[in-house]
Amino acid sequence: MSDISNGPVAVVALGGNAITREFEEGNIYQQFANTRRALKGIVDLIEAGYRLAITHGNGPQVGNALIRVEATRHLVPPIPLGVLVADLEGGMGYMIEQTMQNTLHLRGLKRQVITLLAQVIVDKDDPSILNPTKFVGPFYKEEQIEQLAQERGYIIKEDFGRGWRRVVPSPYPRSIVEVEIIKELVQRGIIVITAGGGGIPVYVESDGRLEGVDGVVDKDLASAVLAEEIEAHDLYILTAVDKVALNYNSPQRQPLDVLSCSDAERYLNAGHFPRGSMGPKIEAAIHFLRRGGRRVIICAVEQLADAIRGMAGTQIVP
Ligand code: ADP
Ligand code: MG
Repeated sequence: MSDISNGPVAVVALGGNAITREFEEGNIYQQFANTRRALKGIVDLIEAGYRLAITHGNGPQVGNALIRVEATRHLVPPIPLGVLVADLEGGMGYMIEQTMQNTLHLRGLKRQVITLLAQVIVDKDDPSILNPTKFVGPFYKEEQIEQLAQERGYIIKEDFGRGWRRVVPSPYPRSIVEVEIIKELVQRGIIVITAGGGGIPVYVESDGRLEGVDGVVDKDLASAVLAEEIEAHDLYILTAVDKVALNYNSPQRQPLDVLSCSDAERYLNAGHFPRGSMGPKIEAAIHFLRRGGRRVIICAVEQLADAIRGMAGTQIVP
């Protein structure tokens, strides 16, 4: 593998729509088919000698897992959210890993692929742990919420007229527990699938032990921390839109080809990038570029190869 020891190092973050699409049911066959489609452009990079870590979202999958837990709690013991996130890092990682292995095999490329569970360290007193706001799982009836709060300790809030739903912390990622081994594997040219769904949030107790948090970490922010910590050159965030835009939901919409870090921050503060969608991607870009990152690309899943050549997507630079 000596020929790839000089290849660029990048973290590729796969958006939720790369694996489940809004208009589909999201069954396993569709998830595999979408994964094959999403990995095409990534394998082009591997062929060109890139060394990669791949992260992915888990929004629809973790929602379904919570619905399964609720629907079966009279039959089998419930699994807490932190463990569901871990299950999905493994299950979705398997799906991406095997699809990657098959694609590499068909294209005659000899590179190893491994899925590695990541725990992500967060602050014990992160504001979102004290006041959770991220909606997850099934909807409940208003008359159930008192009992759910008492029996299970859930915090339940109204999801903008859609109904009552559990909220969980989405704490800010500080660092990744397994980062040294991830870095070593990536440097050797092994493709590492990790920090799926943002990784499993944990905090460090005063005696040094790790303790899990029943919450979810934003996958874009976790990807930025991973990219920083493995000293990647680039971070590629693959999503459902071709480019980042100003005035996104208006006739004055203005797609951007290149964006400096300081302009990104200015537009973020001016409200161009909403909290639940483009906001964390821009925050992730700023985080990474301020800590040694060379370039961030935000582009559509199919356009990665073109975007690397500056012919698609939005480039964010220091
Ligand atoms: P992912 O699953 O890839 O994280 P998200 O739905 O969380 O995707 O975020 C990407 C979405 O953000 C886009 O599909 C688009 O609808 C939305 N969006 C919001 N504001 C903007 C903006 N200013 N420019 C581009 N897309 C935006
Ligand atoms: Mg998102």
